Amino acid sequence: MEEENTPEQMEEKKKMAVSMCVCRGCPSFADCGEDIAFCFPTIGKSKCIKEEKGCACPSCPVYTKMSLKKDYYCTRASEKEQMGM
Ligand code: SF4
Ligand code: SF4
Repeated sequence: MEEENTPEQMEEKKKMAVSMCVCRGCPSFADCGEDIAFCFPTIGKSKCIKEEKGCACPSCPVYTKMSLKKDYYCTRASEKEQMGM
């Protein structure tokens, strides 16, 4: 299904994910001005979050909307990468 997304559609989805992302309220979060929504395939791991002190992803609307299964996208990589895709 995702293969059918045009680059413009991916950009739209990314903006939506970033706007709904609850990472900023998470105990592991560290702000270095980068894009959040680390679960998103074109975003992936954080450059500055290093310590896993809890993950708020399961309570995020994007998590439900995109039927995500994993967590700690900031330290462990996007959903697709964690799934080995
Ligand atoms: S699932 Fe996690 S990484 Fe993805 S948008 Fe929500 S809080 Fe951010
Ligand atoms: S991906 Fe999870 S652990 Fe990382 S900042 Fe977002 S909510 Fe916190």
